Amino acid sequence: MAQLIDGKKISNEIKDELKEEVAELKGKGVSICLAVIQVGDDPASSVYVRNKKRACAYIGIESKAFELPEKTTEEELVTLVEELNRDPSVNGILVQLPLPAHINEDRIIRTISPDKDVDGFHPVSVGRLWIGEKGFLSCTPAGIIQLLKRSGIEIEGKECVVIGRSNIVGKPMAALLLRENGTVTVAHSRTKNLKDVAKRADILIVAIGKKQFITSEYVKNGAVVIDVGMHRDEKNHLCGDVDFNDVEPVASAITPVPGGVGPMTIAMLMNNCVETARMQEE
Ligand code: NAP
Repeated sequence: MAQLIDGKKISNEIKDELKEEVAELKGKGVSICLAVIQVGDDPASSVYVRNKKRACAYIGIESKAFELPEKTTEEELVTLVEELNRDPSVNGILVQLPLPAHINEDRIIRTISPDKDVDGFHPVSVGRLWIGEKGFLSCTPAGIIQLLKRSGIEIEGKECVVIGRSNIVGKPMAALLLRENGTVTVAHSRTKNLKDVAKRADILIVAIGKKQFITSEYVKNGAVVIDVGMHRDEKNHLCGDVDFNDVEPVASAITPVPGGVGPMTIAMLMNNCVETARMQEE
């Protein structure tokens, strides 16, 4: 039986630690405020935004919501982000993605001040991550590092294979594993002999975006398997990029979907919000 890596429990531990830290900061007169911007009313985005506001309330972070109509122009959004950049009462700015097609996401991400970039998507944050400087970390990969560490799984010296090279998961994941002294391989859709590459992994991180793609044929006996994917199966149940029932018997530890990587993303967003206050204190 593989160890089940419980993201729900670990994310709750992190949120409770942050709640205590925020209370201490409040005692010193430091308060934290996150601005959350949503453009349009995409139902999935609305759920994410609601969950983020709920997490803020639990931890003691103020959240300011900006719910803008679908027809908001790029210039209007840029103006709002610039105002929030200048507002000293706002510590972090989060623009819920995806944005409507008429708005250039890259431009909006670059408009957010790197000092308030709690999603960690700004090129300055990405650069800091790769050169090993302190800065905001992309939330999902940072959450995966916490899952591994808090489950007692050592990264140093391990063969780590990341399948997927997106800017929000695969690439920052590779940088973070490297920072933890793992030996890192990044695989993608042009990788040859993916099964052989994946089978080298002591730690296999799967962020492909393809339902239950990874079977036991891709997994070395005793490997740790982290599933980032999020899909609905035929019965409308949540499932991941990994075929859990097939892979679990060969893995030494594995994340379930739901209840694995998913809850960690918001916990690490909250950590980035608290980081804004830690940075101010320093
Ligand atoms: P993405 O932008 O679609 O990237 C997918 C990556 O997988 C690409 O790099 C692609 O390679 C690679 N890939 C696709 N098919 C492949 C194949 N057959 N063999 C090898 N590599 C293949 O996806 P993403 O944003 O990183 O997200 C990945 C999954 O994680 C999705 O299911 C998403 O819903 C989920 N997700 C979950 C969370 C969370 O909080 N739990 C957060 C973010 C994402 P190329 O670059 O060559 O095209």
